[in-house]
Amino acid sequence: MAKGSIGVTTNNIFPVIKKFLYSDHEIFLRELVSNAVDASQKLKTLASAGDFNGSTDGLKVSVALDKEAGTLTVSDNGIGMTADEIDRYINQIAFSGAEEFLSKYKDNANAIIGHFGLGFYSAFMVAKKVEIRTLSWQEGAKAVCWSCDGSPEYEMNECDKAERGTDIVVYIDDDEKEFLEQSRIEALLRKYCRFMAIPVIFGKEQEWKDGKYVDTDRDKVINDVEPLWTRKPTDLTDEDYLKFYRAIQPGQEDPLFWIHLNVDYPFTLTGILYFPKIKNNLDIRKDRIQLYCNQVYVTDSVEGVVPDFLMLLQGVIDSPDIPLNVSRSYLQSDRNVKKISTYITKKVAARLEEIAKNDAKQFEEKWNDIKIFIEYGMLTDEKFCEQAMKFALLENTDGKFFSLDDYKKLIEAEQTDKDGNLIYLYSTDKDAQYAYIKAATDKGYDVLMMNGQLDVPFLGLLEQKNEKSRCMRIDSDVIDNLIAKENRREVELSQGEKDVATQVFQSQAPTMDKAHFMVSLTALAPDDQPIVVTQSEYMRRMKDMAQFQPGMSFYGEIPDSYNLMLNTNHRLVKQVVDDAMSALAEQLKPIDDDIAATNNVVNALRDLRKDNKELPEDKKKELDDNEKRAHELRDKKNELIGKYAAGQPRVKQLIDIALLGNGLLKGEALSDFLRRSVELL
Ligand code: ADP
Repeated sequence: MAKGSIGVTTNNIFPVIKKFLYSDHEIFLRELVSNAVDASQKLKTLASAGDFNGSTDGLKVSVALDKEAGTLTVSDNGIGMTADEIDRYINQIAFSGAEEFLSKYKDNANAIIGHFGLGFYSAFMVAKKVEIRTLSWQEGAKAVCWSCDGSPEYEMNECDKAERGTDIVVYIDDDEKEFLEQSRIEALLRKYCRFMAIPVIFGKEQEWKDGKYVDTDRDKVINDVEPLWTRKPTDLTDEDYLKFYRAIQPGQEDPLFWIHLNVDYPFTLTGILYFPKIKNNLDIRKDRIQLYCNQVYVTDSVEGVVPDFLMLLQGVIDSPDIPLNVSRSYLQSDRNVKKISTYITKKVAARLEEIAKNDAKQFEEKWNDIKIFIEYGMLTDEKFCEQAMKFALLENTDGKFFSLDDYKKLIEAEQTDKDGNLIYLYSTDKDAQYAYIKAATDKGYDVLMMNGQLDVPFLGLLEQKNEKSRCMRIDSDVIDNLIAKENRREVELSQGEKDVATQVFQSQAPTMDKAHFMVSLTALAPDDQPIVVTQSEYMRRMKDMAQFQPGMSFYGEIPDSYNLMLNTNHRLVKQVVDDAMSALAEQLKPIDDDIAATNNVVNALRDLRKDNKELPEDKKKELDDNEKRAHELRDKKNELIGKYAAGQPRVKQLIDIALLGNGLLKGEALSDFLRRSVELL
C-alpha cells in the first residue's frame, strides 16, 4: 500500500475547491463523464494508430447511484490508468500562483477548473471521499485503487478489477444529498451530456406493466452520440434539420431557415443556427444558443461569442477553440472569440444572400418574419450592414418587394424634390392612413409599408446610407409639401384675414388628452382637401425612438402634436373666412385699431432700449403696461372670434372631417359629428 501527499503548491486545495466553487457544484458530473468519454475516445485513437489491437465496440460510460452506500459512480471501459499514470495525472497537480488565481476567479468555477485542469478534482466539491478503480489497456497492467478523503493525503494500492477501464466512485457529502437523487442526476446528464460522443447510460429503460413502471433489460442511453452538427451538411435533409430543431427547442414553431456552420481554419467551429419564427416581443429570448466544447455542453449564455443581433437565433455552436472556461469579460476581449464572432456574422450574411438570390420567392414570403434579425443586425453591426444592403428588402403598400437598389431606381425620377432630396414615403398603417396613401399614389408616387418593430430606427439607417434622402411618413405633411416640386404657393390672404382664419379654426380645434393641435395656413390646389391633419415627422420619430433608447424617455412623455393645415384655396375654407370677415369686421375694427396703437407705443419704447440701454423706471412701467394691454386686446379679439366660430357648425364639421381621415375622431366627438352631419344636411 502506498501513501503519499498530493503535489499541490497550495497547502490544501480541497477546502479551497469546496469553499470557492459553491455556485456550480453540479458541473462535477460533466467533468467526470467527459473524462470517461475522453478515455474511451483515446482507446479508439490508439486502435486506429494500430497500438491497440482489441475491439473498440461497446465503448460506453455508465453512471450509477447507490443510495445506501451514498455513492455516485461513473464507469468507463476506456484506456484506464496505470499506477504511474495516476501518479502523474492525478497526484501531481502542477500549477503555480494558485492562491492569487483562486482569489481572482473565486466566483467562477469554470475558470478555476479550466485553468488547473481540475476536472477530476471538482468531484471534491460534492464528495467526502473519492475512489478511483482502474485497469489500464496496456498488456500486463495491474488494476489500481486510489482513494482520497479530501485531505492532501491519498492512498494507492493494487486491487482486483477484471475489466479494462475506470470507475470513479464519489462518496457524496452529507450536504450534497441531492446528487443521490435519480431525477436530479438524470436532469444533469441530459443537460451536460446530451450530445457527448460515447453512449452515456443511466439505468434501464422502463415500461408500463401491471399498473406500474418497471425496468426493462434495455440500457437507458442519455445521449445522441452523433448530433446533427457533427455530420456533413450534404448528407442531411431538411427533415433532419427540422427534427433536430424540434428536439432542442421543443414546443416551438418550425424555424424559417438554418445555417450549418463548419470551419476548421483558422479555428475549429461547427454548429447549426436556426432563424426562429418570432411572433411577438415576448418570444425574444437571448439564451437559445447552446455552446459546446467537443460535444460537451458548456453554457447557454453566449454573449461575446455571438454578435448581439444573432443571439436571437437558436441552435448550437461547438468549438474547442473558444476559451470556455474563463470569465465573460476575458471572453469578450479574446481575439479568437472576436474572429469567431466575425466569422459567424459573415457566414449568416452569406447564407441569407444566397437564399435571397436563389429563392427570391421564399425569401420574400419569409421577409416579414426575418426582417427583425436583419434590421437589428444592420443597425448594430457595421460589417453585417454592408453585406445586408445587398439582400435587405423593402415592401410597399401593394405588398410588392424590392431590393434597396431597385427601390431607389423605382422612385428616383418621380420622388426627388426641387432641392434634389430623394423622398422615401412610408406608411405605418394602411387603413388609418388610407387617404394620405391615396393622395400620394394618385400622383404616381410609391409608398413603403413600415410597420415592423425596428422599422423606425431602420429608416434612420436608410437615410444615413443614402446621401440626400429623407424618409417621410405619409401623413407628416400634405403630399405637395412632402415632395416639393416647386416653391410653395403663397397664401393669398391679408394679415387680418390670416388672423381670423387661424383663430376661427384654432378656437374649435379638438381638446384631447396627450394631443395638441395647431392650425396653420397653406395654399394647396382648390380640389385638394379643405383641411389635412399632419404630424411632424421629426417629433413623431423622436417619440418612436424613445422606446428604443432609455435616455430619451422624456420624448415619450411629450404630447402628440398635430397640424391642422387649412387649404386657403379651398372653396369652403374661403367661404368660412369671408363670412367671418363680414360678420366680425365691425366689432374687430376698434380692437384692431387699439392693438395697432398699442403696438406702436410698445415698439417705440423698445427702441429706446436699443444698444443695451436701461430704461428709466417710469418708461419701464409704461412698457410693461402696454405689453400687458396688447395681450389683453389680443385675448379679447380671440374671444370674439371664438364666440363667433362656435356658432358656425361648418367649422367643426371641416375639422372633424379631417380628423376622421386620420383615424382621430372617436367616441363622443364621432357621435357629435354624425349628429351635426345630419343637421347640416
Ligand atoms: P483534464 O481532463 O483537464 O486533463 P482532469 O483532472 O480531469 O484534467 O484529469 C487529469 C487526467 O487524468 C486526464 O488528463 C487523464 O489522463 C486522467 N483521467 C481522468 N479521468 C480518467 C478516466 N476516466 N480514464 C482514464 N484517464 C483519466
